[in-house]
Amino acid sequence: MKNIVILGSTGSIGRQTLEVIDLHRDKFKLIALSARSNVDLLIEQAKKFRPQYVVITNGNTDKVRKELAGEKIEILEGYDHLSTIASLPQVDIVVTALVGFAGLIPTLTAIEHGKDIALANKETLVVAGEIVTRKAAENNVKILPVDSEHSAIFQCLMGEENSAVEKIYLTASGGPFRGMSRNDLQHITKEQALKHPNWSMGNKITIDSATLMNKGLEAIEARWLFGLRPEQIDIIIHPQSIIHSLVQFVDGSIKAQMGLPDMRLPIQLALSYPERLPNDFPRFNFMDYPQLTFEKPDTQVFRCLAIALEAMRKGGNYPCVMNAANEIAVYAFLSDQIGFLDIADIVEETLNKAEYIQSPDIDTYLECDRKARETAEQIILKKS
Ligand code: NAD
Ligand code: MG
Repeated sequence: MKNIVILGSTGSIGRQTLEVIDLHRDKFKLIALSARSNVDLLIEQAKKFRPQYVVITNGNTDKVRKELAGEKIEILEGYDHLSTIASLPQVDIVVTALVGFAGLIPTLTAIEHGKDIALANKETLVVAGEIVTRKAAENNVKILPVDSEHSAIFQCLMGEENSAVEKIYLTASGGPFRGMSRNDLQHITKEQALKHPNWSMGNKITIDSATLMNKGLEAIEARWLFGLRPEQIDIIIHPQSIIHSLVQFVDGSIKAQMGLPDMRLPIQLALSYPERLPNDFPRFNFMDYPQLTFEKPDTQVFRCLAIALEAMRKGGNYPCVMNAANEIAVYAFLSDQIGFLDIADIVEETLNKAEYIQSPDIDTYLECDRKARETAEQIILKKS
């Protein structure tokens, strides 16, 4: 039996994690859940799974207390309690399914307490991958990827402990605007950007997928998860999202991991590893996909990808600054303050204004994140 905590249980990954736990109640026990503000869903989840704790970081806690009054569930309020539930002694795995920089501190706390991490929250590795992976190694903690591309790489590397990797290919669907020109993208609305062709996900990552920033974040995530140099990471557009990523070894052999796009699969593997568990999720049928195709990403049109790859190469605090500016810009786009193409401009301008710091510690990252958010907000104010 593995004891599990979910940070961000009401989101896309959080809900699918609960589906997986529900399918394997003999293997997984839910210890704690958390949500920012969707208390109605949190209450429903708590009634169904009866965890020992729930955390609300920014919502109607009184309602949760009232609705769960008859249950033996401890109700905690506030962001700091994400770290409380991530470090409970009875916990084995923490699923980081919350969005953005907010994942960093609770993830580090879980690692310091020796908990394995099922990592969906890629921003944590983008911001402070060097520190997070070093601390994981020091504490003998496994970081098990939930992101489908990284789960694919992880699966390609199983049984290859003695094989040197030449490079990896991260696949990208290309998002809803693949093939469009900058001109076409001038007047894109958030409704159009929120329609992903292959995956149904939370709003922030869906916009990141439309700008291709998501693939840049994933390159940085892969760099730290698999100990690669930036030049060993290549991006390839694969619109069908069937090949989830590939590894090329030093002898030229390439391994790919394939399957229908279904996040429950990488989630389940992260929870059950090193075991694979049976399930009845829909199976891939070759005849439904007579052609799998590949293209080069267009970094002239999708500038966020080029900016992210450059930030990866520069390293230091640049990925942290980029991530903060991107979070601010994406939420500004989602609230109709800026246009789609402004996202890349804001991220680039924020990076240009930031001081470069080669080896930040955690406090420096917190400070860089705060300053970059401020800078990005000022740039947005000037634009509107
Ligand atoms: P989502 O918006 O659907 O859900 C986010 C969850 O986190 C919610 O439960 C919300 O209450 C909570 N949350 C959000 N901000 C918070 C904050 N500041 N403090 C505390 N709790 C907060 O997001 P999602 O699509 O499930 O994505 C979660 C993470 O997983 C992201 O980092 C994303 O990049 C990554 N990811 C998602 C997918 C996917 O298919 N959705 C795939 C790969 C990776
Ligand atoms: Mg992904």
